[in-house]
Amino acid sequence: MSQREWIEKDFYKELGVSSSASTDEIKKAYRKLARDLHPDANPGDAKAEERFKAVSEAHAVLSDPAKRKEYDETRRLFTAGGYGRGGFTPGAGGGFSQGFDLGDIFGAASGGDGGLGDLFGGLFNRGSTRTSHRPRRGADVETETTLGFREAAQGATVPLRLTSPSPCTTCHGSGAKPGTSPRVCPVCNGAGVVSRNQGAFGFSEPCDECRGTGSIIDNPCVDCHGSGTQNRTRTITVRIPPGVADGQRIRLAGQGEAGLRGAPSGDLYVTVHVGQDKVFGRAGDDLTLVLPVSYSELVLGTTVSVPTLQGRVGVKVPPGTADGRILRVRGRGVSKRGGGAGDLLVTVKVAVPQKLDDEATAALRAYQEAEKASGFDPRAGWAGA
Ligand SMILES: [Zn+2]
Ligand SMILES: [Zn+2]
Repeated sequence: MSQREWIEKDFYKELGVSSSASTDEIKKAYRKLARDLHPDANPGDAKAEERFKAVSEAHAVLSDPAKRKEYDETRRLFTAGGYGRGGFTPGAGGGFSQGFDLGDIFGAASGGDGGLGDLFGGLFNRGSTRTSHRPRRGADVETETTLGFREAAQGATVPLRLTSPSPCTTCHGSGAKPGTSPRVCPVCNGAGVVSRNQGAFGFSEPCDECRGTGSIIDNPCVDCHGSGTQNRTRTITVRIPPGVADGQRIRLAGQGEAGLRGAPSGDLYVTVHVGQDKVFGRAGDDLTLVLPVSYSELVLGTTVSVPTLQGRVGVKVPPGTADGRILRVRGRGVSKRGGGAGDLLVTVKVAVPQKLDDEATAALRAYQEAEKASGFDPRAGWAGA
């Protein structure tokens, strides 16, 4: 999670509490959500996992009175437009995406991965101007792919074509013409931010001279015009793990867009669509299969050879099996994320012949009489109704 997202997040909304909630109320709300959303309770549910992380983050800030106070003050400044500078709106992107993120603005001196110390340290300017430039991480990329039913169940390696900015091959991402190099911005001394005072607070503001990048390119690379990135179509081969469900989103770290001027790449998210199968259906990790049987097979019992994803198995239909009964074949379902596999659920379904020859018809009539004589009444349960 980037620091920019931190400030855009409404931690109160995340926990479903009001902004005046007491610490106890916050803790209580968190405990309930954490229980409901815990990954152990929602195996394989990426949405629940994301929510769980968000809720944990919100709790980490709001349950600590000092952090909460800082968070509240920061948000108030932003929503009151205290940040100034021509209508910057967090999250609006637009003109703001010109080459810095909130990490830069706030002077994430340590270059660390988004603690509140980093986030607020620069904003409240605690006695020092310890700011340094941190390159902007590449954007995340979303794409989708469609797998066949069996591919999804068993895992597949698929090629994905992506068009996205990659590091420029001419300048290797520096943005400067080969043979030259960017010079340190004289206005901000490479920090990418300059200090400004407003009321009680000292603000770090993106440097105008270098647009927050900390460096000036006098001779831009002709191929990328100084951005350090080029649009390139690339094909990457992605391993989709077995057991992926229709609509599931898979994250591939570092496979997204290249960062500006050598910064880390973003992540790639692949939404997987799964096709249908003629024979099998899916119910979570279980495979489902309808097994057509004759009436006599149900009454007398039989063993039927049924297909699985790994060859055929014999399924025993016990004598006197009711139509619609589900027979379970253990371990012949879809591979699970943590090892093992679901089951194959075989539903027996009587197939009624549309036409019989004379001999079979005569035999069936004789059977019907014998069945009546034996006292079998299919509607015995309706007696008196
Ligand atoms: Zn270039
Ligand atoms: Zn500068």
